[in-house]
Amino acid sequence: MPSGLQIRKEIALAPFTTFAIGGAARYFAVATTEEEVVEGVFWAREHGVRLFVLGGGSNLLVRDSGFAGLVLKIAVMGMEARGGNLFDVGAGEVWDRFVERMTSLGMAGVECLAGIPGSVGGTPVQNVGAYGQEVAETIESVRAFDREKFEWVELEKAACRFRYRESLFNTDEPGRYIVTRVRFRLRPQGEPNLRYADLQRRFAGKEGVTLMEVATAVREIRRQKGMLLVEGDPDCRSAGSFFKNPIVAGERLAEIAAAAGVEESKVPHWPAGEGKIKVPAAWLLEQAGFVKGYGVGPAGISTRHTLALTNRGGATFADVERLQDEIVRGVLARFGIALEREPVLVG
Ligand SMILES: Cc1cc2nc3c(=O)[nH]c(=O)nc-3n(C[C@H](O)[C@H](O)[C@H](O)COP(=O)(O)OP(=O)(O)OC[C@H]3O[C@@H](n4cnc5c(N)ncnc54)[C@H](O)[C@@H]3O)c2cc1C
Repeated sequence: MPSGLQIRKEIALAPFTTFAIGGAARYFAVATTEEEVVEGVFWAREHGVRLFVLGGGSNLLVRDSGFAGLVLKIAVMGMEARGGNLFDVGAGEVWDRFVERMTSLGMAGVECLAGIPGSVGGTPVQNVGAYGQEVAETIESVRAFDREKFEWVELEKAACRFRYRESLFNTDEPGRYIVTRVRFRLRPQGEPNLRYADLQRRFAGKEGVTLMEVATAVREIRRQKGMLLVEGDPDCRSAGSFFKNPIVAGERLAEIAAAAGVEESKVPHWPAGEGKIKVPAAWLLEQAGFVKGYGVGPAGISTRHTLALTNRGGATFADVERLQDEIVRGVLARFGIALEREPVLVG
């Protein structure tokens, strides 16, 4: 079979991640077409090695020992209007460029997701969300290669089973599908989403707020929190939020309040369906003593965002793991809640 896919050996993974941590991939290749994606899958099978699919590397924590298989970076590009407010976007496109294009065209639905790092193909995986919006709200379907059946599939939104930071791709069938294209349905000339309190404050009393203004405001809020990738800013050398907001039974509110030594009304929380509540992980961390800037080593909590563990320079996987374990233990001891890591572990 003629090969367009170039397999390289012993490629350091840290530069391909926003955390800038981790060892090398034994084999590494960049797939720019769907044919090359399939080639990568077959190559890994023929050589009896595991395959890891890499997007923009913004939600990964790579072990110091690296990955003893093939890392396949998805670089299938393209952004096409299909009519009927539909847009087909290659998985390798940079997510924020897509947001920029949509907001400049007056297409509503992704303006609050501005500034999220990573690729378009990475967004359905954990159903990215921020500032009152989730990508699932605008996804129409996902084209992917099914590694189990060795065939291409078109998964309608319902089949993607989107939930909070979960989907078919990372929870129900992790690693089974390689996304090469996402189809979005936007709202032409739609009103921007101003559900988030920071945005409401910023635009209070202003008429006719545009999508671009909202996207710009979101990037600015993110920049202030170190949640936008800015060259030279150590607070964004992270994988974004390190812990998921835990979902617990509503009856536990009183217990959480007692553990924090505050009244129930002072515990921030949102309804999470079926008598459950979602409690902000950042609040739990702070109550348990893990505040902004915490940590003395090369890995520490961001100075501007409690939920981001950062590589202050030269941090290893082991440094991050130590800090993670310390935080998980501390929050468990105080609240009886076991925090879950959000970034994907590689290796
Ligand atoms: C500073 C910062 C801020 C962030 N803010 C947010 C936020 O506000 N909200 C939020 O939800 N997330 C946030 N994140 C996390 C991250 O940006 C998103 O999860 C992003 O969508 C990951 O995409 P990626 O292309 O970088 O994926 P990667 O990190 O490369 O991969 C993540 C997972 O997706 C899989 N994957 C990637 N591409 C594909 C594909 N084409 N097909 C199949 N599987 C694939 C990988 O195998 C892996 O399991 C933030 C991260 C950083 C560093």
